[in-house]
Amino acid sequence: MNDRAISTDSKDIWFPVTLRLDKGTRALVVGGGSIAANKAALLMATDTHITVIAPTLCNELHRTLEADRFTHVAAMATQEILESHIPGMRLVYAATDDRTVNRLVAAIAQAHNVPVCAVDDPEPSSFITPAIVRRGPVMVSISTSGAAPVLARRLRERIEALLPAGLGRLARFMQASREKLAQSHPSPDTRRRVWENFLDGQGAEQALAGNEQAASATLERLAAAGSGGGEVWLVGAGPGDPDLLTLKALRLMQNADSVLYDHLLPPDVLDRVRRDAERIFVGKQRSQHALPQPAINDELVRRAKAGERVLRLKGGDPFIFGRGGEEIEALMEAGVPFRVVPGISAANGCAASAGIPLTHRDCAQSCLFLTGHARADGTLDLPWHTIAQRGQTVVIYMGLGGIACLCERLVDHGLPPTWPAAIIEKGTQPDQRVITADLASLPRLAVEQNFRSPALIIVGEVVKHRVVSTGTKES
Ligand code: SAH
Repeated sequence: MNDRAISTDSKDIWFPVTLRLDKGTRALVVGGGSIAANKAALLMATDTHITVIAPTLCNELHRTLEADRFTHVAAMATQEILESHIPGMRLVYAATDDRTVNRLVAAIAQAHNVPVCAVDDPEPSSFITPAIVRRGPVMVSISTSGAAPVLARRLRERIEALLPAGLGRLARFMQASREKLAQSHPSPDTRRRVWENFLDGQGAEQALAGNEQAASATLERLAAAGSGGGEVWLVGAGPGDPDLLTLKALRLMQNADSVLYDHLLPPDVLDRVRRDAERIFVGKQRSQHALPQPAINDELVRRAKAGERVLRLKGGDPFIFGRGGEEIEALMEAGVPFRVVPGISAANGCAASAGIPLTHRDCAQSCLFLTGHARADGTLDLPWHTIAQRGQTVVIYMGLGGIACLCERLVDHGLPPTWPAAIIEKGTQPDQRVITADLASLPRLAVEQNFRSPALIIVGEVVKHRVVSTGTKES
């Protein structure tokens, strides 16, 4: 088992929501020390009234609480006291340093259906508090579902550093301008695009800097220009590791109205597409559910003409065995504007993650990318004389079905049976597998180890230069 392949498919029991704690609500903190002070400080950022049950309060807690916003019940947290205060609370923090007391508080709160958090003890809790980054109304909450609070805090530090101080100002500006924009532009789709253009351009900078007048002028100009027409973005999503998406791909994935995708894309990548975008699966390889290429072309044209920003998301690079060329021909013919965004192709991704260089000054001065798509009988029709050459690396896409024929022909055309060859399954993904062998044994090993598509074959002396780094598994 690869230690990176920790199961991620179990359902989560923690569900993030943002709770309203306005005037008229009440929250309870049980405990009078620094843990309680910490929770009280979080609550003080809201409008709720805070009750603290503790025999005495530490100085920190005193400093945190404003007199008119809190009640001190100077008593031990006994069953009786708790029973009389917990009903009617919007939430309860059990924040003493005594786990038994915290668990008693939790049990009583649970019995009254009041949300409760026993600090540092998720087991009896019905909610847990995330780490929070705040910029005015903008809140980022980070939770590890109680698994690793220190990790959550570390992530918070990073996000703190990332988010500009003026973000709150920007959010307030957008809030203040919403009504006016809604009146002039009743369509929510159009409004969303105006805002996206605003955020992508100088408007956001102006609002962040607090220059509201300039930001308003920018917004008016964008609103007058309208939303613009539909277009198609042909985007390479890389070989499967979402960290290998380009920044441009990510941005377009976040802005698309709809996405057409196919079988190569793992859920981790698709998860990064805007949540509300319509998702259209256009097919599994060799399955009868696949939408034939002309139908995909027609769908792209139809949607763009209806004003949508259509993301055509493809595994790897759209122009390497991706039929991207055919799609843009159809778009050009139909007069639909399009953009092409390159992606990391399987060859680059797999080579890097398997530690096999594609060229090497000692043994490979060139690198050939081939499609090894076999006929139904597993045979291949390729220019064997060009391929069976020393001094070059050959990378074969879609070659698994024809691997036996491939290796045999290369030997027939002059390469030794001991010539190095490798196969990489699900390259760059957590369950990547690699076999390094030679032309004589690779087909047998691939069958024995039940290698499946997507898999990439690399043939050449570069395979001998493989460097296995930590986290890469060798079968
Ligand atoms: N446009 C894509 C290739 C599409 S053809 C690109 O640039 O990568 C599909 C083939 O790509 C698969 O059959 C397999 O040979 C290869 N491939 C794509 N992703 C892969 C991955 N993560 N690991 C191994 N091979 C992959």
